Amino acid sequence: MPQRLRDAIRDVPDFPKPGILFKDITPVLADPVLLQLSIDKMTESASDFAIDKVVGIDARGFLFGPSVALAKNAGFVPVRKQGKLPWKTNSISYALEYGENILEIHQDAVSPGDRVMVIDDLLATGGTASATVKLLKELGAEVSCVIFLVELDFLDGRKNIDCDNIHSILNY
Ligand code: IMP
Repeated sequence: MPQRLRDAIRDVPDFPKPGILFKDITPVLADPVLLQLSIDKMTESASDFAIDKVVGIDARGFLFGPSVALAKNAGFVPVRKQGKLPWKTNSISYALEYGENILEIHQDAVSPGDRVMVIDDLLATGGTASATVKLLKELGAEVSCVIFLVELDFLDGRKNIDCDNIHSILNY
């Protein structure tokens, strides 16, 4: 079954710019069996942890986060790109595989001591997830685990993320 998941992920050369081999997860989303499998595997990865909030990273973390949150009996929190969240935010600037970006979180999205799980579709350099973990820790949350559907091992992005429990469903 994980092989079916792996087979469904499509390599797109030169997207979004020349030299980048983009992993396209949309075929996984389009298949109900693979979508369910992805959500189940992500949920299983956090089976050792009681979770108060699942944090999804803009934008593809939003595709899995709410389903995993319901499976964990937790709430869902979006971390968004700059200018999208309407209320008071904390923000952080970070370097991306291609360019630079700013991420924001609502100041009341997590409370001190909340046990949180972070979800995104893909781990590349780790800049995005690392910035998200920093935002959460600034708010006093305890980052229990960080989960990805896909990890690009050769970039060793996990070393940049300040969390002891980092798990990916598929490694390349
Ligand atoms: P990082 O910050 O370098 O780890 O890049 C990860 C972020 O960029 C995640 O939010 C991903 O959604 C996105 N990303 C980078 N490369 C890819 C890719 O090949 N496929 C899908 N998303 C990607």
